[in-house]
Amino acid sequence: MLPEIKGLNEECGIFGVWGHKDAAQLTYYGLHSLQHRGQEGTGIVVSDGKQLKGVKGEGLVAEIFTTEAMKELTGTSAIGHVRYATAGGGGYENVQPLLFHSQTGSLALAHNGNLVNVNSLKHQLEAQGSIFQTSSDTEVLAHLMKRSGYSDSKDRAKNALSMLKGAYAYLIMTETELMVALDPHGLRPLSLGTLGDAYVVASETCAFDVVGAEYIRDIRPGELLIINDEGLVSEQFAVSSTKAICTMEYIYFSRPDSNIQGINVHTARKNMGKRLAIEAPIEADVVTGVPDSSISAAIGYAEEAGIPYEMGLIKNRYVGRTFIQPSQSLREQGVKMKLSAVRGVVEGKRVIMVDDSIVRGTTSRRIVNLLKEAGATEVHVVISSPPIKNPCFYGIDTSTKEELIASDKSVEEIRELIGADSLTFISVEGMMHALGQEGTNGYCLGCFTGNYPTEIYPDTLQYYYQK
Ligand code: SF4
Repeated sequence: MLPEIKGLNEECGIFGVWGHKDAAQLTYYGLHSLQHRGQEGTGIVVSDGKQLKGVKGEGLVAEIFTTEAMKELTGTSAIGHVRYATAGGGGYENVQPLLFHSQTGSLALAHNGNLVNVNSLKHQLEAQGSIFQTSSDTEVLAHLMKRSGYSDSKDRAKNALSMLKGAYAYLIMTETELMVALDPHGLRPLSLGTLGDAYVVASETCAFDVVGAEYIRDIRPGELLIINDEGLVSEQFAVSSTKAICTMEYIYFSRPDSNIQGINVHTARKNMGKRLAIEAPIEADVVTGVPDSSISAAIGYAEEAGIPYEMGLIKNRYVGRTFIQPSQSLREQGVKMKLSAVRGVVEGKRVIMVDDSIVRGTTSRRIVNLLKEAGATEVHVVISSPPIKNPCFYGIDTSTKEELIASDKSVEEIRELIGADSLTFISVEGMMHALGQEGTNGYCLGCFTGNYPTEIYPDTLQYYYQK
């Protein structure tokens, strides 16, 4: 029996602005454009130079930040967060930014990524007297900063950040400054922009376009930016050893209109589709993509293969992502509600269906079924990522190794399980070629190859390899 529906889930998106009279409103729009990175909770904390105030809640950006809530958020600087809960689970207390008040001042934290040494750090901190308010890994940084012993906030941050292992893009705000930090491997995307005299930081550049900000550059691995009313200072808190940006950001997570390291996400996906057409030439009548993240790759495949691209599958815009629905039966309903096959396009046709990934396999099987029920005579599945054989430890919820269909099944076995007439995954080389790279340097491919850019701690391994 196939396991339950499970997709790849991003954890978070972050947005920050320093030095703008409409800081909270800009953050609202920025977070709205990052909503695809997490739909379970969202929050904004503002600074007016004297104090930090926050509003947060479980739900979508448009639900939490009502007109009334926005009136509370007065200030010239802000950080915001959208969350998909995995590490530490859900719940209001885990919704970010986390806000801490103390006699020496306040601190707000927003984090995208996942720490791989969080349990050992928590044990150490608890032994020293720390009491955690949340079960999220993000809070560890606040405790490490508080205990660092340095008087200067920059030194506190540098000292604390140097103890973290894993993936992290952090926004750290006090009453008087915004600090921006990226882990030494640069696993998650994070970019800097300007809007007039204000500085803007976001997980994806699509947020800059929405608020009219100008992209300046990506944050460097191991970099700490300190932004205050005096301007911006850049320092390294760690030497960047091996840069390893997540390849899944290009394949699935980021919006097509975002650029990561100067590469446009739509173009990268289209190139992956073109490459697949070379690696997997198939005789067919139409090419279709699973909306939305696979459309670009499907267009690329169609263009390269000279087969018409058609909209063989449509998405109901008003249904949330399947994975935020809690029960199996609701998830199943969700898939049926979410996608429909267009009979007029696929009936009597040999269809190439392009999708970005196969995690557990159930969703692929259902989509193949949808197309066949709508009259497709053949359904050939091509996947614009290599088989996902290993879990992600860096903030992408791929579940445990045992739940990944490709961890112990061959391509032919997966093909049979999803009911496709053929199944092809892009090769690792083909994917890197689509990204304009000769080799794999500079990219994380851990979930495909099992080679991770960081050490993975035993307690983390235990969780992901359980059962
Ligand atoms: S393991 Fe996979 S999903 Fe996780 S950061 Fe690396 S490439 Fe991305």
